[in-house]
Amino acid sequence: MKFFGICISSLLLLSPGFASGEPSTAEGQNVEVVDLNEMQSTPPTVEKEEPAETRTEEPTELVQKQEPEKDTSFFDFSNLLIPVTHEAKLGSPYGIRDHRLHRGVDVQVILNEPIVAAYPGKVIMSKYNEGGYGHYVLVEHEGGLLTLYGHLSKRSVKVGDVVFPGDIVGLGGNTGRSSGAHLHFEIRYGKVNIDPVTVIDFPNWKIAEGADHLDKKKVIQAHRKMQARLQKDNFYIVKSGDTLEGIAKWFNISVKALCRINNISSDKPLRIGQKLKGSQQW
Ligand SMILES: [Zn+2]
Repeated sequence: MKFFGICISSLLLLSPGFASGEPSTAEGQNVEVVDLNEMQSTPPTVEKEEPAETRTEEPTELVQKQEPEKDTSFFDFSNLLIPVTHEAKLGSPYGIRDHRLHRGVDVQVILNEPIVAAYPGKVIMSKYNEGGYGHYVLVEHEGGLLTLYGHLSKRSVKVGDVVFPGDIVGLGGNTGRSSGAHLHFEIRYGKVNIDPVTVIDFPNWKIAEGADHLDKKKVIQAHRKMQARLQKDNFYIVKSGDTLEGIAKWFNISVKALCRINNISSDKPLRIGQKLKGSQQW
């Protein structure tokens, strides 16, 4: 068991900036846990703008008497508690897979083992997402950060609950589009995905070097780069004879998810040359 420093005063992590209530996931290759369908759904919508940098307009002398302003241009993840409390095997990484984006990282778990909150925060989603995350919990933390815990066998918290690091949010499971017990863990800053390996050094099971001073701009740039890649490479152009079923299979998602993500109806015929995407983009 390894726990990391728990500091209630510094909540930082984040969760999904879902645009439609379900996850979009493309799990990577070379993984023992196959989790093909997390992308099936669209993640829950967090109606939040990315937090703006805060600045006071107060006179200089007044400001000088106050506490120094918190530097909001960096994330400090040094107090993150890794939500799986033992050195488990890593499955699919964050990144593009099956023409879609896997928005988090997969960690193999023992069925029904406790999954704990990584940071203090408030539960803003605790529900079942068929075909995607399965039972999942989304926690909102200070500063616009969110963490998501998916494929749980059981959820132990409800919306509105306040959690502290180490509090059990649910039990590890295999629900949703998952084949093998694992935790799908996401870190988000508003609608920006943060690759969990920039925060957690998984092979060594500790906080990654530099995660105590992670440049917010670089995190946002990395997210935008990934979105641009998705836009450029991860779409499908309809050809003669194509069907929604066939295209959905290509993306490894359901027809329902394909229609929702592209805002199309399954009743309407496809147009040749029509461009369809397999991941929700923000
Ligand atoms: Zn996953």
